[in-house]
Amino acid sequence: MASVRVAVRVRPLSQREKDLSAKVIIQVDGQITSVLSTKENFSCMNGELSGERVKSFSYDFSYDSMNSTSLNFVTQEKIFKDLGTDVLQAAFEGYNACVFAYGQTGSGKTYTMMGNPGDYGLIPRICEGLFHHIGGVLQKDKASFHMEVSYFEIYNERVRDLLPSTETQGCELRVREHPKDGPYVDALSRHQVQSYTEVGQLMQEGNKRRATANTGMNNVSSRSHAIFTIRFIKAMFDGELPSETVSKVHLVDLAGSERADATQTTGIRLKEGANINRSLVTLGIVISTLADLSVSGGIKRKQSFVPYRDSVLTWLLKDSLGGNSKTIMIATISPADVNYSETLNTLRYASRAK
Ligand code: ADP
Ligand code: MG
Repeated sequence: MASVRVAVRVRPLSQREKDLSAKVIIQVDGQITSVLSTKENFSCMNGELSGERVKSFSYDFSYDSMNSTSLNFVTQEKIFKDLGTDVLQAAFEGYNACVFAYGQTGSGKTYTMMGNPGDYGLIPRICEGLFHHIGGVLQKDKASFHMEVSYFEIYNERVRDLLPSTETQGCELRVREHPKDGPYVDALSRHQVQSYTEVGQLMQEGNKRRATANTGMNNVSSRSHAIFTIRFIKAMFDGELPSETVSKVHLVDLAGSERADATQTTGIRLKEGANINRSLVTLGIVISTLADLSVSGGIKRKQSFVPYRDSVLTWLLKDSLGGNSKTIMIATISPADVNYSETLNTLRYASRAK
């Protein structure tokens, strides 16, 4: 049965926000995240004058990471315990999983997924958990494991390997469909990894490539989706025939959710903005359709159409969204009044995904 969990995380005020004398307008209470609309930010609400001063949303988890001295402060470790361990469980049981970080640029997506050395995010912790499991099981079971990782980005509906071979360096990769296994990226490199250090090196290499690509265009990384995929392969030698189970874990740092400002955007930027928008909207629809299926006990309500094909991202992750897969969405937000409208958009998006 498909399982979908949605979390919201609010980061500390940034230096820039402090310099702007920004006020904190987010409150977290249990599963509820509330946003206060101050008088000033009524003006940036695009005519949405409801007169309501507080809007509250409930999620599976609401994480307050605003102030590390506060009692309610939520650490990277706590988020891993709540969400990452579910991903590990799915992988050990042979299921697929997807984790998405959604939010405006600068809200904490990469921090939540990757983290910093000494304050690791979900991806390093999940990798570590998988290696730990491999180490533990090898002793007693007639099983052997191995792990392969891929890292690619989708920019403007085009796929690029972030860990390319010399042949695929700088190439756009094609998305194809296998008659049995479904959609895949043709010629995407896979790297077998034996240790956490190797994974770390590959991640670093890919991140560097993501950041420095497409010279001449600023900040491309905020406009591409980065997909880090772990294939966790278990080979069993119990009976006559060896058998193999493959679990895929996709860890996705999505493009910034801020909408392209139509008044300042022309040509390539406009198309890019439209593509980002379309893929994020499609992802939202796919996840909310799956969430509806899971609350109705897996019993299909009529023919729920899941529009996987509407974006490259959802198409490529099709076999890991729905079915027995685990889906986790973490929406990251800024606490500051200056980001009010983007924050409200993010809270609504996450709320629809439930
Ligand atoms: P995004 O990937 O959404 O553009 P980043 O993850 O790069 O945003 O975060 C922007 C900045 O805020 C970074 O300097 C990051 O270290 C910091 N930051 C984000 N979330 C947190 C958090 N929960 N705690 C502390 N610092 C954070
Ligand atoms: Mg980022």
